[in-house]
Amino acid sequence: MVRKAKKEETAAPETKEEVASVPEIVIKETTPSTGVEAENIVTEKDIKEVEKERKPLQKSNTETWVPKTEIGEKVKTGEITHIDEILDAGKKILEFQMVDMLFPALDSDLLMIGQSKGKFGGGKRRAFRQTQKKTKEGNKPKFTTCAVIGNRDGYVGMGYGKAKETVPAREKAFRNAKLGIFKIRRGCGSWECNCKTAHSVPYRVTAKCGSVEVTLIPAPKGTGLAIEKECAKILQLAGIKDVWSKILGQTNTKINTIKACEMALKNLMTTRIDYDTKQKLSFTDGKIVREATVSE
Ligand SMILES: [Zn+2]
Repeated sequence: MVRKAKKEETAAPETKEEVASVPEIVIKETTPSTGVEAENIVTEKDIKEVEKERKPLQKSNTETWVPKTEIGEKVKTGEITHIDEILDAGKKILEFQMVDMLFPALDSDLLMIGQSKGKFGGGKRRAFRQTQKKTKEGNKPKFTTCAVIGNRDGYVGMGYGKAKETVPAREKAFRNAKLGIFKIRRGCGSWECNCKTAHSVPYRVTAKCGSVEVTLIPAPKGTGLAIEKECAKILQLAGIKDVWSKILGQTNTKINTIKACEMALKNLMTTRIDYDTKQKLSFTDGKIVREATVSE
């Protein structure tokens, strides 16, 4: 009996690890016979399940949250009521629960950075980018995803998450997106439009990541978001309604496209502008619009 038990003990951990490392997504019903590669294919059914879950944002329980940082305590006690107090001071957000408390209604989305496997030159775009490591035990898949959060009024954040399964990857991505929240600047920089509302970007901005160069151009009211799909998602959550754009380079590299778009939005904040121009462009940083909407 003792020997048997020992054998079981030695044998068990390996199998357990294997079971644990294989994600839930592996489906055995559909293609059991096609061999090793079939196991790693994410089927449509699973992705639909994941995409159902991706809409409701993971709300952390802020009541049971015990802050570990000084700023976190201030947010918890209500001393800090607006995120600008943290961002303008140049301090880092180290606990994502702060963002949950300061923005009760945040919208979120996952960006399509991955691709499902398909014959004849590629499959559909997916929210999870799947990569593999070859090991003795077999292929070990890993999932990467990119999340965007925003209040559709001047604040956005983006974050990446990577894990052995899709659900933890998504949670990590949302957490990182909350930690990386930043403020954008809006205005009406189009000469065709003189509406004095902040519906577009105030001036042309450019940013580059890898070979991808994204330029955001102010557009008149009613234009909509004339930009690549994933970038449009970001701008929508940021609260920009009209924009023209120009994207150069290998735009199929979605991660670079997304990063360039993020950097372009951040570049909006780096320009210094005098008071008169601000009035002309009906210039608003995230905060001013918020106050205006409150007073209306
Ligand atoms: Zn306008």
